[in-house]
Amino acid sequence: MASPALLMRVVASAYSVAEKAATIVRNVMSAGDLGVVEKAGPNDLQTKADRLVQMSICASLARKFPKVTIIGEEDLPTDDVTEELIEDGHCEEILKKPCPAQYTGIKEEELVIWVDPLDGTKEYTEGLLDHVTVLIGIAYGGKAIAGVINQPYYNYEAGDGAVLGRTIWGVLGIGAFGFQLTEAPAGKHIIVTTRSHSSTLVNECISAVNPDTVIRVGGAGNKVIQLIEGKASAYIFASPGCKKWDTCAPEAILHAVGGKITDIRGNSFQYNKEVKHMNSAGVLATLRNYDYYASRIPNTVKESLVP
Ligand code: AMP
Ligand code: MG
Ligand code: MG
Repeated sequence: MASPALLMRVVASAYSVAEKAATIVRNVMSAGDLGVVEKAGPNDLQTKADRLVQMSICASLARKFPKVTIIGEEDLPTDDVTEELIEDGHCEEILKKPCPAQYTGIKEEELVIWVDPLDGTKEYTEGLLDHVTVLIGIAYGGKAIAGVINQPYYNYEAGDGAVLGRTIWGVLGIGAFGFQLTEAPAGKHIIVTTRSHSSTLVNECISAVNPDTVIRVGGAGNKVIQLIEGKASAYIFASPGCKKWDTCAPEAILHAVGGKITDIRGNSFQYNKEVKHMNSAGVLATLRNYDYYASRIPNTVKESLVP
């Protein structure tokens, strides 16, 4: 049999690398010293877990795929990473899936991997552990085409004996796996949005879609999981702050199951390596009924968010 296509090998490796990342996230928390550093301010934090996981993911993937561009959230050196942080395994089950025809010829230098080592850092420091995800998004031709989301504390409230953590992965043209795709309740507008980065504009935009319920949780990865598991009908964030590493993996998984994510003005995100990191015009994402939510966003809100 011919060796699997590069894209499938990258996703299969990213899966194992994300599982190693989840172990690091849990180990740093149980060791008790988070080593919190403020980046832009008190709502923009970095912990020891963000640092170790970024080094682990970037160094592990760079070693296997040296010509791929890897862009991680944290500003850290990538050389001199200790051997114990390196993961060289892969998920066999992913390698067994055929690569979609349009991606079989992809070369290493054409891929960009966007890494959020720990999404929901603020919530991690506050003990809201199921908000946390590890995000590895894979882009080709400026588009998010594959992604891995690991949730290190999935099931943590189920108590001892429950399996802790899970890995969700997806590729456009194949689908997404590791969770049960569920529709949100019909006829209800359940909005999921930021918990720690709110503003007048964020709330004004949510009011405009006639919400029945507003769920405020941390993390872009976590919010897209709420959409694909039927807990929320739309993720609305009318503010700058979210970056390309926050949206790339969630976008690929959401699109792989037929959902849609754009900025608040309806523009799709670009993921080529030269692109600006900030998603300045916010986020609008749904599994179904994107047009309803897009049509309710006030022009005044759109005009205050410049892409
Ligand atoms: P949230 O929904 O607030 O958890 O944000 C989703 C992602 O965007 C997280 O990675 C946040 O750190 C990031 N983010 C959103 N707003 C801001 C902000 N104002 N400053 C820094 N990061 C932000
Ligand atoms: Mg993040
Ligand atoms: Mg992060």
